[in-house]
Amino acid sequence: MLLDSFLGWFSMDMGIDLGTCTTLVCVRNRGIVLNEPSVVAVRKGTNIVLNNGEAVGFVAREMLGKTPGSISAIRPLKDGVISDFEITEAMLSYFIRKVHGRGGRLVRPRVVIAVPSGITAVERRAVIDSAERAGARKVYLVDEPMAAGIGAGLPVTDPTASMIVDIGGGTTEVAIMSLADIANCESIRIGGDDMDEGIINHLKKTYNLLIGEARAEKVKIQIGSASPLEEELTMEVAGRDTISGLPRKIVITSEEIRESLKETIAAIIDTVTATLEKAEPELAADLIDNGIHICGGGSLLRGTDAVLANATGLKTFMVDDPLSAVARGTSVYLENLEQWKDTMEHSEYGWE
Ligand code: ADP
Ligand code: MG
Repeated sequence: MLLDSFLGWFSMDMGIDLGTCTTLVCVRNRGIVLNEPSVVAVRKGTNIVLNNGEAVGFVAREMLGKTPGSISAIRPLKDGVISDFEITEAMLSYFIRKVHGRGGRLVRPRVVIAVPSGITAVERRAVIDSAERAGARKVYLVDEPMAAGIGAGLPVTDPTASMIVDIGGGTTEVAIMSLADIANCESIRIGGDDMDEGIINHLKKTYNLLIGEARAEKVKIQIGSASPLEEELTMEVAGRDTISGLPRKIVITSEEIRESLKETIAAIIDTVTATLEKAEPELAADLIDNGIHICGGGSLLRGTDAVLANATGLKTFMVDDPLSAVARGTSVYLENLEQWKDTMEHSEYGWE
């Protein structure tokens, strides 16, 4: 314990929520210290990160969709899978360096990383290897829904069921937990990005209007919904006409946007009900009192809690600060690393 706090002076242990849209990093006793888009800008056709490895996060997002021919901005975790190991590693390395300081500290940090529960053993291994090469001395993995439950303050270690639905950009994770373990979980590679995609397709099909991903996300946040609104909304949106090729503006309504999001919402609902159907009867019974807790950026879509309550007959609760629940959970793991580390999947080498 003493040695641990002594080492704390020299290294800065960190918890990382490696999200498909956003990466958050927290440091023990300091809370969230980094919150940046999971984006990397590279020279086209290569794995060379621009600006000497510094074109990551906010800097790289600025380039997304507006990149000149020789540059591409990549989201290495876009669909919840690591599409490119080298680029993921470059991204982790940049974030770890940014938080830990460049060579300023003597001891490399221990790192707790939350990963989607649906990723393969090979991908889990790749995350550990990337973080090691990116400068961690020891890497521990936690399942994202477990971290979310802990971050949300749910009684996940008690002999009662807690249920988390985490709707991210590229994935949705649904899990029922009890006694510090995941009893049932489902993970689908569908999330907020697919809602944006639905909006893009609707505008193209109905109005011959092409819009980009960033604008589609704005539409979703401004007027998107999963269930009817008390007062329906409208919004003006600009894009390029697919026939004339010229810029054009139209007015769209929240009803038609809701329709374009239907498929994604239905997939999320199906995943939630499928998870419930597989639950042990005792745990299912607990959920009548405990309800479902929802988090992740996608849960901010208006009416998401209502449609889930409707489909399952259970109470639904929005987690406070739903975008940071996973990161806050990793920080609880950091605080308890001494007790919990033996139960966590971790790197083989490096002293604890
Ligand atoms: P990840 O954990 O995969 O990085 P996040 O939990 O950060 O994802 O959620 C990102 C998703 O949440 C994006 O698709 C984003 O568009 C969506 N999002 C963020 N804010 C809102 C909002 N107010 N309404 C609807 N969707 C939102
Ligand atoms: Mg997430």
